[in-house]
Amino acid sequence: MKALKIYEPYKLEIIDIEKPSIDEKNNVLVKMTATGICGSDVGIYHGTNAAATYPRIIGHEMVGVVDEVGENVTKLKVGDRVIVNQVTSCGNCYPCSINRGNVCDDLKVRGVHIDGGYREYIAVPENDCYILPSSISDVDAVMIEPTTIAIQACTRGRLVEDDMLLIYGAGALGSTILKVAKQFCKNIIVADILDEKLEEAKKNGAKHTINVLKEDLVEKVKEYTNGHGSTISIDSACVKDSLMLLLKATGNAGRVVTMGFSTSATEVNQFLITSKELDIIGSRLQNKMFSKAIEMINEGKLDLNGSVSHTFPLVKGQEAFDFIDSKDPSIRKVVLTFDF
Ligand code: MN
Repeated sequence: MKALKIYEPYKLEIIDIEKPSIDEKNNVLVKMTATGICGSDVGIYHGTNAAATYPRIIGHEMVGVVDEVGENVTKLKVGDRVIVNQVTSCGNCYPCSINRGNVCDDLKVRGVHIDGGYREYIAVPENDCYILPSSISDVDAVMIEPTTIAIQACTRGRLVEDDMLLIYGAGALGSTILKVAKQFCKNIIVADILDEKLEEAKKNGAKHTINVLKEDLVEKVKEYTNGHGSTISIDSACVKDSLMLLLKATGNAGRVVTMGFSTSATEVNQFLITSKELDIIGSRLQNKMFSKAIEMINEGKLDLNGSVSHTFPLVKGQEAFDFIDSKDPSIRKVVLTFDF
């Protein structure tokens, strides 16, 4: 079977490998039909993802159809369309013991620490598969994975109806957070540097938008929140100065959710945190959020149709990554398909 493997930054190859077989542990064989290219995959390709190890078959947004089931499988049957959980955890460490397997001491993310979905077949435990609603296509279903990341950020931030939420960054991550967050609260401010992204955010339910290149973020957030500042701020821009800015823009007793993966030092000051008694909350991956995302789709609260802008067959993976690097403004979500 074919796979797309990254040997080192900027060096990817289509290779032929043996089709996996199912066993006790990995007891379902999934035939991939669509796998998304995430910002973090581009980071692995560029060599800027601190978590990644090489060589690696990447891809953690994995949609497919069950092709074979092991003896002890009870819930799935051949032909079921599924999305595969990217998180694997040990089940025994401290985080796992308090139901925080997404930050397991021995965390292994498919497509990052172990091989992922850029291949024709993957063998996984049955419990790592979630059956897709019939209302969503395989290509669009790839977006369920980023949605789980957004649900995690909103959950970690304890988002409630009365909140005045600031989403900093309206790219792929920020726009998904907006889609999820608007189900919890109405007062949402989105900030970015691109007017077109902000216009889209307005269309998608942001009450206010701020172009941080043209307007003062902290002042504008105050203005839109009756002088208080946001009650919760989520950093979906994850740039050098974003944490410091959000500490300033967030009001007393607020929460700041970080999602960045950069290892370079960033300036913050304790006075802002202590004097306002802010909660600074990290949000990583997702903790059993696939069922929630699928429930939102089934209830008609979440529409992921039309989020994907381009598809490439897996064998044209290099073209797909080059296209993403071109930063073409039409790019939203790029998905690799397996119809070759
Ligand atoms: Mn992703």
